[in-house]
Amino acid sequence: MASSSTRGALHAGPRLEAKRRLSALVDDLARQVDYLREEGVTEVARAPAMASASPPVPEAPPKKLTPPETPVIADGSPELQAIARQVAACKKCGLHAKRLQAVPGQGNLHPDILFIGEGPGEDEDKQGLAFVGRAGQLLTRLITRMGYTRDEVFIANIVKCRPPNNRKPLPEEMNMCRPYLERQIAVLKPKTIVVLGASSLEGLIQPKTPGITISRVRGKWLEYQGIPVMPTFHPSYLLRNPPAMWDVWSDMQLVLKHLGRTPPPAPAKGK
Ligand code: URA
Ligand code: SF4
Repeated sequence: MASSSTRGALHAGPRLEAKRRLSALVDDLARQVDYLREEGVTEVARAPAMASASPPVPEAPPKKLTPPETPVIADGSPELQAIARQVAACKKCGLHAKRLQAVPGQGNLHPDILFIGEGPGEDEDKQGLAFVGRAGQLLTRLITRMGYTRDEVFIANIVKCRPPNNRKPLPEEMNMCRPYLERQIAVLKPKTIVVLGASSLEGLIQPKTPGITISRVRGKWLEYQGIPVMPTFHPSYLLRNPPAMWDVWSDMQLVLKHLGRTPPPAPAKGK
């Protein structure tokens, strides 16, 4: 029979482990709340009761997306090629110092939709392509669910080089980089633009309007140089808060409606 002190030692392990897990959970939650605050979220959306509608994105964990599905630069556009070359050589802001590769963006030359994210993450920095990491896989599912392929849309970012540790790009970095995106938009002439998350909104629609947060403006049309702009949540936010996918899906319905398109039927569950 174990003595009381041995019993105490035996029980300390699981208790410590439980404590450690709880503290990790609390840290996680705190990080998530910080993230939501940063995104300007003041309340957390709940999935509406839509028993008949299937989730816009299949629940199965996304598979690694390799090799890249899209060419680095849209074919047949010397202007876009030139911008990509300038971006690759650019040292206008401090982000050039730690990049592995610049990520100009890629896709269709005259797309129905231009998706704009914040900036490359680790996978994008390694591959030189926008949205190929976890958030990118979710974006790909959304694009597919909308009835497009990645090649049929254009995917770009506000800043073309990875911010260290995936921090938010600084306003001065966005200001330095914006002209590249502006030139891309002038060439692409997309029918619509979808800005993904607060930084993209802030980076594109200038001057920044205080109090305009992504959760307030999502789902409402804005305009950039005469092009309708739909702000919605960033896919990274959706990875942390899957029910918000319903909001994004409802925003994308507006985009599809504007384009005169209807999404293909939802895939059977589990596909
Ligand atoms: N997040 C972004 O905003 N852009 C990417 O390309 C990848 C992740
Ligand atoms: Fe140049 Fe943009 Fe890269 Fe900064 S982020 S170095 S402005 S390409």
